[in-house]
Amino acid sequence: MNNVKKVADMGICVGCADCGGCEHITFKNNELGFPAPIVDENCKNCGECLKKCIYWNSNDN
Ligand code: SF4
Ligand code: SF4
Repeated sequence: MNNVKKVADMGICVGCADCGGCEHITFKNNELGFPAPIVDENCKNCGECLKKCIYWNSNDN
């Protein structure tokens, strides 16, 4: 997996939606009421959405 599901799974996604723009990402409110990215099964794992995520890029991972 090389997409923003990693960010959501780690619990560091703040729902800023900066990773949007890819046809394989939709946003759905999480249990706290904030939008979280949902990546569909046709994701190509190109990693472009991760590059847009400041929270991922400021993480050591
Ligand atoms: S850019 Fe990062 S923090 Fe913002 S919604 Fe996407 S995964 Fe979450
Ligand atoms: S295709 Fe690329 S930009 Fe789109 S969700 Fe997958 S990894 Fe992210």
